Amino acid sequence: MDLREIGEFGIINRIRKWATSSDPALVKGIGDDVAVIEMGAKVLLVTTDILIEGIHFDRSWINPYPLGQKALAVNLSDIASMGGTPKYFLISIGLPKNLHISFVSSFYRGLKKEAKQFRVQLIGGDTSLAPKIVINICLLGEGIKRDLLFRDGTKVGDDLFVSGTLGDAALGLKILEEKRKIKGAGGLIKKHLSPYPRVELGQAIAKRHLATAMIDVSDGLLIDTSHLLEESGVGARIWEGRIPLSRLYRKWIHSFSKDPFPFALSGGEDYELLFTAPCEMRGRISSLARSLKIPITRIGEILPKKDGLHIIRMDGKDYSPSHLGFEHFR
Ligand code: ADP
Ligand code: MG
Repeated sequence: MDLREIGEFGIINRIRKWATSSDPALVKGIGDDVAVIEMGAKVLLVTTDILIEGIHFDRSWINPYPLGQKALAVNLSDIASMGGTPKYFLISIGLPKNLHISFVSSFYRGLKKEAKQFRVQLIGGDTSLAPKIVINICLLGEGIKRDLLFRDGTKVGDDLFVSGTLGDAALGLKILEEKRKIKGAGGLIKKHLSPYPRVELGQAIAKRHLATAMIDVSDGLLIDTSHLLEESGVGARIWEGRIPLSRLYRKWIHSFSKDPFPFALSGGEDYELLFTAPCEMRGRISSLARSLKIPITRIGEILPKKDGLHIIRMDGKDYSPSHLGFEHFR
């Protein structure tokens, strides 16, 4: 069997079986946005992500400065999705021989800018020759165990919420890939190149105990929802008409797709937070959204596992998506 048949998540599921542990200090190993290790009164949060030239980015459309910012941002988003506080990071880079030193210095300036903004400290890494640029960051953070939000806490009857808007990053990437010159669509491209990790929002939701489970939308709404559902052993219904779409997205989506929803449902890299909460929390969630000035939208509800994942279209028709979104190796 080759990797195409089982896909990225099939590979991870096998690795997960090979790596079972009975260490009582390991609160969470493989299977969530970060690993969680008990360290006295607090827990240590550990996450890592890889970016590979030609797979995750293309030097013809991203400059080294925003690439440095994004490399850290995608890891910050994983700590955000637990409601933790990011603290320290290590970065390993593989670089081709012919790369100009200015690429590296500019990349590190972007990295430093992002690190300063989110108050995290670079503490080490590794450097090697590579045929293409490879960037791997390992980010450490901390949290309080009873406040943290995992993928597996969702209950039947909970509401499903998402922050910000969806689909912008995927539409921005499409514009870059097709090299379309669209005046006024810069905000969509920016959402793809410079995502903003929702660290403050994640912490606020966790500290106030507003949610039952949380994940960041890195691979796409449907895939990341399905991760939450799988870990929690539940199903869900999402109302397509409630999916938050930005003004720019609504303006430009029709130049690319007749149906406005596929990008918002399956497009990745929005790095918004997706969480579930009991309906008594609706009022407190709206007031948090107002006080942080971050839109939070109720897009669905949690059902028993046997119901699976359903999308309710604008015309009331109901379907179970067969294709959830992007997965490596597929
Ligand atoms: P995310 O999209 O939040 O980065 P992933 O889908 O990449 O999450 O990973 C899901 C889980 O699988 C995480 O716990 C991650 O640490 C783990 N994981 C992913 N790849 C590997 C691997 N090659 N070996 C061990 N664990 C892995
Ligand atoms: Mg994640």
